Amino acid sequence: MQPLIIPPAKTKFIVITGGVISGLGKGVAAAAIGKLLSSNGKIIPMKLDGYLNVDPGTMNPLEHGEVFVLDDKGEVDMDFGHYERFLGINCKSKWNLTMGKVFDFVRQKERRGDYLGKTVQFIPHVTNAIKEKIFEVANEEDADIMMIEVGGTVGDLENELYIEAVRQLKNAVGEKNIAYIHMTYVPIPGNVKEQKSKPTQQSVNLLRQRGIQPDIIIGRCAQLLDDSIKERISIFCDVPKEAVITGLDVDNVYRIPLVFRDEGILTILNRKLQLLAPEKMEQWEYLVHQMDHAEKEITLAICGKYTKLEDSYASVIEAIRHASAHLGVKTKVKWIETTEIENGNVSPAHALEGIDAMIVPGGFGSRGIEGKIRAIQYAREHGIPYLGLCYGMQLATIEYARSMCNMPNANTTEVNPVTPYPIIDLLPEQNGITEKGATMRLGGHDVLVKAGTHAEKMFGPLTRLRFRHRYEVNPTFISELEKKGLVFSGKAPEREIMQIMELPTEKHPFFMGTQAHPELSSRLEQPSPFFVELIRSASHRKK
Ligand code: GLN
Repeated sequence: MQPLIIPPAKTKFIVITGGVISGLGKGVAAAAIGKLLSSNGKIIPMKLDGYLNVDPGTMNPLEHGEVFVLDDKGEVDMDFGHYERFLGINCKSKWNLTMGKVFDFVRQKERRGDYLGKTVQFIPHVTNAIKEKIFEVANEEDADIMMIEVGGTVGDLENELYIEAVRQLKNAVGEKNIAYIHMTYVPIPGNVKEQKSKPTQQSVNLLRQRGIQPDIIIGRCAQLLDDSIKERISIFCDVPKEAVITGLDVDNVYRIPLVFRDEGILTILNRKLQLLAPEKMEQWEYLVHQMDHAEKEITLAICGKYTKLEDSYASVIEAIRHASAHLGVKTKVKWIETTEIENGNVSPAHALEGIDAMIVPGGFGSRGIEGKIRAIQYAREHGIPYLGLCYGMQLATIEYARSMCNMPNANTTEVNPVTPYPIIDLLPEQNGITEKGATMRLGGHDVLVKAGTHAEKMFGPLTRLRFRHRYEVNPTFISELEKKGLVFSGKAPEREIMQIMELPTEKHPFFMGTQAHPELSSRLEQPSPFFVELIRSASHRKK
């Protein structure tokens, strides 16, 4: 058997597992810890997912939450959104390992003859493959700290191989180079009204049965963990009391690093991993303060079809928060289910009453789109600041063609392949593609910005945005749309793909669309100008 790749000697590993229930926010916790440690050098997050899909790109956002798209074209778990937003880095698709990828890799090795003569087994071959992938990333990135988040909860069959692989890591990298953090749930049952440690004890037992003794336990709880419960968890789970940290329920996830810090997590991690750099959280703290204390409030409508599950628009919500924090504005989001407008149950005027700004986010297919188009028309005609994201730009273009260019029934061929005015049409390179996995126009692309436009004021002559689409503004109709006053202010350098669209400021205070998903590259400390300008304009209008 080939010797295992060895990670750089300097790399420290922090492994995060979860227990008791899913949805405790391990991804946010990992990102928050990474942020607190970020003055210690290069922090690289990795997420290990148990499912057999190669990536989440083909999953329904209702089931799995939003698909996060990376600059390198990778379609990855939405936890990568937290990593990027907290750490301010561009993650890579290799950092999201799925069992689909692991088995692909092992099978390729087996066919190549790498295991010749051997019976290929879960242990050691699959677990070695997992470690190899982790070490490969550590080496390629020359990481100072690897944050490794194991998906799911301890005891899930589909994650057992990851748990076993991260257990083996300790021997491979040395005890002083690795810290294990286990995140659990501390309930406060309604009738007893006190914090309960039993689920944590049981979950830590499951972890210890698998050979992992946690160094830190984060107990997710509605209140700060009190002294007595920390004591109990410390005794039963064999960790120092100071290593029991509250994972407080907060309505602002950006407060989490500050909560962890105040609970003393850095003392434990610095001691265990011999880290020395002091934390640098001033700007972060200032922005969190801005979020929690903004006085001016605006209401922003998001018109979509997945509005029942906010996770499917997670990045849009975060981008709104980032921009609001920078402007010192509190933005209340109102979800508008456009099927209701489409069915005639509510009028756009009624649905958009009291709204200061509107977003139509990305989407696919035909459900609710006529309702979205009517809402966009209302926003355009009534000067409501509007931002269209991907599908939202395509639909705004269709609305403009119908209302202003005398093209009745203009549409996208995604919805109506025989429309007389195919304003939005398939990208030529998409013709003939039948496979659905990772075949859209994906990832980061440069955008050339037109001089003299609003976009130029926001970005200068060139910017880079992230994409995930199959359709585009049909080049045949561009000059007609432009003649009637629509401005295409951003284009792809390699070909005339329209990337940003706007109405001149004398016609509308803020009406913009982009074929991109700027929400994916917005960070708390570096908000997306699209969202900043939308909210700034809404806030002026409200005055
Ligand atoms: N359905 C549209 C397309 O494929 C928009 C995609 C999106 O909003 N992400 O081009």
